[in-house]
Amino acid sequence: MKIGVLAVQGAAREHLLCLSRLGVEAVPVLRPADLAGLSGIILPGGESTAQWRLLSRAGLADPLQEALREGLPAFGTCAGLILLAQEITNWPERYLGALDVAVERNATGRQVDSFEAKVRVDGLGEVPAVFIRAPAIRRVGPGVEVLGTYEGEPVLVRQGSVLGATFHPELTEDLRVHELFLSLCRKG
Ligand code: GLN
Repeated sequence: MKIGVLAVQGAAREHLLCLSRLGVEAVPVLRPADLAGLSGIILPGGESTAQWRLLSRAGLADPLQEALREGLPAFGTCAGLILLAQEITNWPERYLGALDVAVERNATGRQVDSFEAKVRVDGLGEVPAVFIRAPAIRRVGPGVEVLGTYEGEPVLVRQGSVLGATFHPELTEDLRVHELFLSLCRKG
């Protein structure tokens, strides 16, 4: 199984490391050709506006959207979730629109307000999570399942084989959320 990590900007290296620790082939995605033969793709955290600009410039926007439409399993963390979301409540643009949620960008405030916490994930219990200028999930569509919460709010959601997290699991030693994504890729 080969998993891609969008690597135009942001925390790609950390995700690549998590995937290799889990024993799967992990490749950075920088050009449309890198999408070939993937069983899944991770969209990392970083800055969603910069990521969108860079991936559009690399010619990746259309092929990525197409791959998602055809059912490529995807996992967006933080900025990656913003790229996947159907709606961004406080931003005029919408990007890939592959996950039926509305998110609010930068809901946890500034960089200095970043924090580590335990989130509750169905079937896993408490999972450590790092929040960095994280988005908040403000609406969840009917086909979207809330898998994880923090203080009662959704932080990990799934729609079919598309997974989205407001936090960074790749900045902790705990690989269970990545394992969860890999199980969706195996099914997908
Ligand atoms: N605030 C960033 C954005 O809006 C996301 C932050 C992150 O990915 N850690 O894109």
